Formats: sequence, C-alpha cells, structure tokens
Amino acid sequence: MTTNPSTTAGEASPLAPEWLAVPADLNALHEPMWASGVARNDAGELTLDGLAVSELQRQFGTPLFVMSENDFRARARAFSDAFNNAFADICGGVDVYYAGKSFLCTAVVRWVEEEGLRLDTASGGELAVAARAGIPGSDVALHGNNKSDGEIHRALDMKLGRIVVDSIAELERVARIAGNRGETAKVMLRLTPGVHAHTHEFIATAHEDQKFGLSMAGDSTEQAGLSAAEEAVAAASGHPSIELLGLHCHIGSQIFEPDGFALAAEKLLDFLAAMQSKYSIVLPELDLGGGYGIAYTPVDTPRPAAEIAQAMAAVVRTKCAELGISAPRISIEPGRAIVGSTTFTLYEVGTLKTVRVDAPGADGSKSGNSGETGKNVTYPRRYVSVDGGMSDNPRPVLYDADYSAILASRASAAAPQLSRVVGKHCESGDIVVRDVYLPEDVAAGDLLAVPGTGAYCWALSSNYNYLARPGVVAVRDGSVRLIVRGETEEDLLNRDMGV
Ligand SMILES: *Cc1c(COP(=O)(O)O)cnc(C)c1O
Repeated sequence: MTTNPSTTAGEASPLAPEWLAVPADLNALHEPMWASGVARNDAGELTLDGLAVSELQRQFGTPLFVMSENDFRARARAFSDAFNNAFADICGGVDVYYAGKSFLCTAVVRWVEEEGLRLDTASGGELAVAARAGIPGSDVALHGNNKSDGEIHRALDMKLGRIVVDSIAELERVARIAGNRGETAKVMLRLTPGVHAHTHEFIATAHEDQKFGLSMAGDSTEQAGLSAAEEAVAAASGHPSIELLGLHCHIGSQIFEPDGFALAAEKLLDFLAAMQSKYSIVLPELDLGGGYGIAYTPVDTPRPAAEIAQAMAAVVRTKCAELGISAPRISIEPGRAIVGSTTFTLYEVGTLKTVRVDAPGADGSKSGNSGETGKNVTYPRRYVSVDGGMSDNPRPVLYDADYSAILASRASAAAPQLSRVVGKHCESGDIVVRDVYLPEDVAAGDLLAVPGTGAYCWALSSNYNYLARPGVVAVRDGSVRLIVRGETEEDLLNRDMGV
C-alpha cells in the first residue's frame, strides 16, 4: 500500500535540497538575482524597463537572452569605481579588464570601452570580435594556455596591450615570433600561487595540479630550488623582444569572500619582491584575475565590489609596506560579476509531468519518514519542460550549477510546488533549474524567466539536437534591440556540405 501525502502550501518538500526555502511570495523578485529595471507590472507580468516579456516573446521568440544594457554599464562602472577608489593612494588606480569569454559581442565591447574598462580575450576568435568592435589593441589582453602561432601573430598585428604568457615554452615562442617581426611583445606571466577557489571556500596548496600557469613551487624545474615562475622571469628578461610588464594570477570563479584573492596577492607580491632583490628586475604590474561571485539562487550572498576592493587594497598596502617595495599597478578581470546578473533567459513552458519520488533515504522496503511500516511514502516532483535547455545553458550539466526560475508571463496565487525545470534535449541530465518552487498552476504556454544567465550561457551554447542558438536582446531605457540574432534553420544547415 502506498500513501501519497501532497506537499501543502508553505511546507518544504522532503525532496528539496536543504538550502531551498519555500518562498513566502512566489511572485516576488529576489533582488540580488535580477538586473535593475526588472519588475512586475500591474497585470503581474515581468518587465524590463517597462517592456513586458510577452511583447519580447512576440517580437523575438523564445528562448531568448534578455539583457539590461543599463545594468551592464552600471556593474562595469561599479567595479571600476570601487577598485579605483580603493587603490587610488596605493598605485594610482586599477585597470579593469572585462573577461570577454563570459559573454562577448561587438555591442558589449563598445559598452566596455565607453565605461572606461579594457577587454580580456582568450582566442583568435575573441580577438576578431574585439577588432570588429574597433577597441584599441592597447586596451586588449590575450590569455590562453595553448595559443597558436597565428593567435600570437594576430596579437602582435593588433598591438595588444598584453599577452598573458602561460608557460616557458610559450614565452620562447612569443619571443621568437616577436623577434622575427622586429617587434617587442608586452607580456605578463601567469603564475599559479597555489590558492584555488573550491566551491565557496578557497584552498591553499603548494602545488597547483592544473593546466594553467607557471608553478611558483620551488621544485617545479630541474634546477633545485628554482620554480617555473622564477625561470620564466629570468628568461623573459634575457629576451630583447619581450617587455615583461608583470605577473598575473586567476584563482577561480564564483568566489564570495575576499580572503582567497588577498592570499594570492600576498604570494605574488612576495615573489615580485624576491625578483627585485635577486635579479634587480622591477615588475611594474600585477593582475589579480577575476572570479567575483554573483547570486544565482536566494542563498548566494555576493559582497559588494567596494567591500572586496577595500579588503584587497588593505592587503596590498600592508604587504608592500612590509616588503619595502612600491606597489605595482593593479589590474583585475571580472567577467561573471559584470554580465551575469544583467540577463535572464526567457523560455516558454511546454510539457508538464509530475512524478512521485521516494523521500531521500527511503529504500522502498522500509517506510520513508512516515514512521509507519509497510508503506512507501512518496512525494511529488513536477517536471516543467521548456523550449531550450542544455544547448543554451550547459552549466547545470557541466558544473552542477544551481539556478532559479520564476513564472514571468503572469502573477499567480497558486500554492508552491517543488519543480524541476528541464530542457527539450535527448539527455536526462538536461536540467535548467534542478530545484525550484513554482506555482502549481504553471501551464503550457506560460513564460518562465531564469535569472543570472548573462555569463557562460550564451558563450557556452551549442546546437545539440540541431536547436538554433537563441538571440540576445539588449534593453535600454525602454527600447529593445537585437545585439546577436538567433540562429535560423538556414544557419543550422549552411555548413553541411551535402556531399
Ligand atoms: C575566466 C577568467 C576570468 C573571469 O572569471 P569570472 O569568474 O567570470 O570573473 C578572468 N581571468 C581569467 C584568466 C579567466 O580565465
């Protein structure tokens, strides 16, 4: 015999993860997750700068990435202002490089430039976008652990402000290519300080077991006591075709606490001072990377940029004084923290299905948590299918990333129901939002909005199952324009050679 208690309004489902609370009001917008300008209108419909989502769907279809241009510009400025203020008396200010890999198109490059930021790229293709947008090469950086000779040539053609060199082999290649061209390459060295973001915490180890960067561990070369990082600094200073600007590190992503950044900064400053005293090499710049976290769900609590900037500035100030060196010019590379929350994805709901699931821990032969023997206690989980999925947001599949969702086309007074928002792909792992409470009257034809999809969603999108990748619209002061059009069936077919 089976008993099937239904979850009553306001009561948490035993199937929900512990962190997920039942919202007091399913129509309310949890502010940190949304772009400024997102609200519900009098009819209960979600709007951005007054534009209703149903109107956006009518004009552009779904799925659709809906981005607030004002919010993007405001977040870019906020980072720039916060870090420039905090570091003003230490090194005159901070250069903020927007990490283009999080979301890149020519419109965004122009916003970045207009707001006084610079641009980080990581491939020839990203450099092509930068070139098309017309940003000066001196404001562009190139990353990557396996740059091709073609990419290095392109960086030199564009006279990039910095090439971030990832290995000794690459340093030698950049030196040779620049030397053959009779040019000088501006180079930063990416080091691995042994500090790494691990979930919301960071871990510190002597060695970094990863593909990026030059190890700072003393036993990382054949020569006893010499690290790959030190070997690279010495080698770079011997190449007339290399102008060594400084050091770089990037400790990970979606980091909330400043401690990890601070520890990495201390380690790099120690190293910088050591190079100064040992080789009389003065490295004028230090890049502390990106990785600042955003709110994907109501339990994520990102710190304001000013708080992180001040904490990092305090560490740099103290450490430089302690080492008796003048502070290098600081730069940072936020991606997600600028673009992530500017955007929500708009989906249309299709098929709905409710399954009953054993409570976690119940194994079928015993009772669940009912205390009665011989009865399987199961709970409902509702699968809400939308018209996109892992092709427009692979992060849940790739990283178990959590998202949230809200009914966008109308307000609802219905009771909360534990739901799983899934895509339309031929993969059972095709999950958009693993656990969220949605009103139980959500029906086919409703629109759902998933916030926080500005970073690493469109950028990582694919054509799996021959789905067309969605377009991106930018809304500014109540007007909307396509900044990247969605793909058509023609786009999907036009590389098929038909032979
Ligand atoms: C990805 C990346 C960034 C940006 O990371 P966010 O988490 O988006 O801020 C910055 N620098 C480097 C080197 C990166 O690889």
